[in-house]
Amino acid sequence: MNALELLYRGKAKSAYLTEDQDLLVLKFRDDTSAFDGEIIVQLPEKGAVNNQFNAFIMSKLSENGIPTHYVERLSATDVLVKRLDMIPVECVVRNQAAGSIVRRLGVEEGMAFDPPLFELFLKNDALNDPMVTEHHVEAFGWANRHEMARMYELTLEANTILKGMFDNVGLELVDFKLEFGRFHGEIVLGDEFSPDGCRLWDKSTGEKKDKDRFRQNLGGVLEAYREVAVRLGIVFDT
Ligand code: ADP
Ligand code: UDP
Repeated sequence: MNALELLYRGKAKSAYLTEDQDLLVLKFRDDTSAFDGEIIVQLPEKGAVNNQFNAFIMSKLSENGIPTHYVERLSATDVLVKRLDMIPVECVVRNQAAGSIVRRLGVEEGMAFDPPLFELFLKNDALNDPMVTEHHVEAFGWANRHEMARMYELTLEANTILKGMFDNVGLELVDFKLEFGRFHGEIVLGDEFSPDGCRLWDKSTGEKKDKDRFRQNLGGVLEAYREVAVRLGIVFDT
């Protein structure tokens, strides 16, 4: 399947139409943004690392019964996906407190949530991705009640699967963000799962192995992403 016309250019990926109107090619670029796009830099090889990381995770989730947009990886940086009608809402699960919840509610980083905490954010950089509730999602027509219930269910299922998988390789899955869309009437997981959209802490040292290394200027960003991938047994093309 060939990438034809550029459909849209996001902050980290570009989406291209293909000969099949149900399929898109997503190209993972090296652009890395933080603070809702206020800072953008190039991190060499990040696109290739995240594409291959994402392909591994999406396959794992599919094997475990989560419907995903993933079809096949086309190259180091490109993936073929089902074209979804995206729902402009970010579904976040937190197993421990970090990032925005620490600032918003003044809790200590690392505070455990059991059961995990589910939060929703509107995908809107101009408004700094404000937190919303399921009532806003329904009232503004971003998704209906059944769709919202399905996104909640799938996000928590994904958390159970991935938390166990990372735990097996000595990493704590602190939190992560998922995006969903509609494909012929079904709610399907879209976008990506990579260290850009989750928090992973080493279980023995507490070291951060995710995008917080970039946000907090800790250095060694790609080295950390690669280390997580190697622990999971991902073999890179490049
Ligand atoms: P952002 O939108 O935050 O700048 P990206 O650079 O990752 O993020 O851009 C990817 C865009 O593609 C996002 O808007 C995302 O919602 C959208 N997208 C991801 N997967 C699909 C899909 N399967 N079908 C249609 N759009 C998708
Ligand atoms: N996240 C993301 N994209 C966003 C906002 C958050 O991928 O636009 C991820 C982030 O990497 C973290 C989780 O969602 O793993 C929760 O993010 P948080 O609300 O703490 O916001 P942050 O402080 O990371 O901006």
